[in-house]
Amino acid sequence: MFKLEQRLQNFKPYEPDTAEYRIRFDVNESFIKPDKGACERFASKLSAIDFNRYPDPYCFKLTRLYADYLGVNENQVVVGNGSDELLSLIATAFLKDNGKVLTLKPDFPMYKFYSSLRRAEVCEEEKKGTLAEIAKKVKPDIIFFSNPCNPTGAVIKKEEVLNLLKETSALVVADEAYMDFCGESVVSYTKDFNNLIVTRTLSKAGGIASARVGFAVANEETISVLKAVKSPYNVNALSQAFAEAVLEDKEQFLKNIALIKASKESLFKGLSAIKTVLKSPFTPQESGANFIYIKTDKSGEIKQLLKEKGMAVRAFEGFLRINAGSESENKELLEVLNENS
Ligand code: PMP
Repeated sequence: MFKLEQRLQNFKPYEPDTAEYRIRFDVNESFIKPDKGACERFASKLSAIDFNRYPDPYCFKLTRLYADYLGVNENQVVVGNGSDELLSLIATAFLKDNGKVLTLKPDFPMYKFYSSLRRAEVCEEEKKGTLAEIAKKVKPDIIFFSNPCNPTGAVIKKEEVLNLLKETSALVVADEAYMDFCGESVVSYTKDFNNLIVTRTLSKAGGIASARVGFAVANEETISVLKAVKSPYNVNALSQAFAEAVLEDKEQFLKNIALIKASKESLFKGLSAIKTVLKSPFTPQESGANFIYIKTDKSGEIKQLLKEKGMAVRAFEGFLRINAGSESENKELLEVLNENS
C-alpha cells in the first residue's frame, strides 16, 4: 500500500486570509491598477492569441522587453510563473542531494520551504555582520536572500553582495522582488559572476500580481540550465500578453514606481508621527521597499483593530508590515491608528 512520507505530511497548505477587506496593505502588491494604454494594448494582443495553441515556451517578446528594462542581454533572462516558480526551480535544479542552504532570519519563507522540499539542510542566520562573514561560517551550497528584505525592508548595499560573490563559491540567489523601488541591484554583475542568480517580478512595481510573471537573470550558461529544466509552457499566453503590454510603456512603468515610492515615503512620515498605538511604542523602520516594518508589542491587536475597519495588514511576532496604498487608503489607515494611540 502507498504510504505518504511523514516529512510530506508535515507540510501544511498555504492558507490565504479569506476575510473580506476593503483595503489591502498586507501582501505588498501595487495599489496602482494597469493604465488604460496597457489595457488597450492587452486587448489587442488578446484578439491575436491562437487559444487552441500552446504559448511561446521561451516568452521571446517578453524576455526581450524585460532584458531591455534591466539593461542585460536577452540570453541572460528566463521567465517564470511568478518569481516563486523560479525560486522553486533553482532549489530543485541546483541543490545537490544533502545540500546545505543559507537563508537569513527573518526573510521570505519560501527559500526554506523549497529547499526543505528538496531535502536540503537549511541554516537560518540572523543578519549580524556581512553576508561574506555569515557564508564563511556556514559554508552553504546555496545562499538565498531578498534585497530589499521582505519583511523588514532593509537594504543590503551592492558592494556587500559583490564582496560575497568574490569570497564564496556557493550559488548566490539575490531575490530582488522589491529592487525596482531601490537602487542597489546587482543584476549587472550577472555577466561577470557565474555563481549569481537574480530574481525579479512584475507582481510588485509592475502592478500585475494577478498575471504571475517573474524573471531569473544570470549568466547565459546558468540560464540555459534553467530553460532546460523548467516545464515547457510555464507562462501562459494571457500572462505573456499582459506583461508585454505593461512593459511596452517603460515611461508609465517608471512613473508608477515613482508614485509608489512617494506613497511609501508619506506613509512612513505619517506612521513615524504616531509614536504609540494601543498605548505601546510604535516604531516604523526605514525601508527600501513598498512596505514598512513596524516594531510594536501589539501587532496581533492592531491587525484585529484594522480588520474590523476592513483593512488588512500583516502581523508578525513583535512587528507589523504595512504596504503603501493610495493617498486616501493611507489616510484612512493613519486615522484609525491615530484614533487608537
Ligand atoms: N520574493 C519575495 C521577497 C516576495 O515578497 C515575493 C512575493 N510575496 C516573491 C518573491 C514572489 O513573487 P511572485 O511569485 O509574485 O513573483
